[in-house]
Amino acid sequence: MLLEGRTALITGAGRGIGRAIALCLAREGCNIAFTDIALSEQVLATEADLLATGIKAKAYAADASSFDEAQSIVEQVKAEFGTIDILVNNAGITRDGLLLRMSEQQWDDVIRVNLKSAFNYTHAVAPLMLRARKGSIISLASVVGLAGNPGQANYAASKAGIIALMKSTAKELGARGIRANAVAPGYIDTEMTQALPQEVRDSFVQRIPLHRAGTADEVAQVVLFLASDMSSYVTGQVIAIDGAMS
Ligand code: NAD
Repeated sequence: MLLEGRTALITGAGRGIGRAIALCLAREGCNIAFTDIALSEQVLATEADLLATGIKAKAYAADASSFDEAQSIVEQVKAEFGTIDILVNNAGITRDGLLLRMSEQQWDDVIRVNLKSAFNYTHAVAPLMLRARKGSIISLASVVGLAGNPGQANYAASKAGIIALMKSTAKELGARGIRANAVAPGYIDTEMTQALPQEVRDSFVQRIPLHRAGTADEVAQVVLFLASDMSSYVTGQVIAIDGAMS
């Protein structure tokens, strides 16, 4: 058990990669507090699946892009779980469109939900980790944050911002025992990518040397590595999980 007795807070973990991360950490004995935009049936099913692994788990409804809600959620998790050892900034959305057709709303929504949310939760959790003189923060970036992508200027900028946020956090908080890293998944089969047209999905697979989409569990395994003491000297890094797509 790599994470026995520890507590992780994961944003947007009701489904997809966040849910896979929650279950993967739970199987290693980690207690899980997670958020999603609402307590839907899907979110409550994830909570039930987590509880079935025998750990303590609780779902919270919160918009990750709200600074005030992030402070309140961290207070509630601290009261309920006592500590937060691991933070996973996972909540994310896409609002794709070519640059010249992209509305201000599309830009603002993606920067708020993807990038500001990571600041909100890192800022709210850091005081707890500073007091404990330990902690691991992991944020979901993307290969498009490294390389750019037509039709995703907003999303790519938000993910590049996440990488810079994690690298800066690692440099600011490293002396106090806190690590901060990003993972950059490529094309992962989740509801987010199932929304893409089939021809776009086929073209991704052709560009991937491993010739397939990745799974949410394959992302979760890397997050587990970064959350655990197996990565105790790894900080300020971005790890691509993309079948050599980038
Ligand atoms: P998904 O759409 O399947 O799941 C995202 C989850 O976040 C959902 O449960 C959703 O309700 C929640 N969410 C959305 N907005 C929120 C908000 N404002 N507050 C709280 N929760 C919110 O997406 P996914 O594919 O599981 O992606 C998870 C993360 O991984 C995202 O940050 C995404 O950008 C990143 N990512 C995904 C891929 C991929 O190929 N799927 C690739 C690279 C990076």
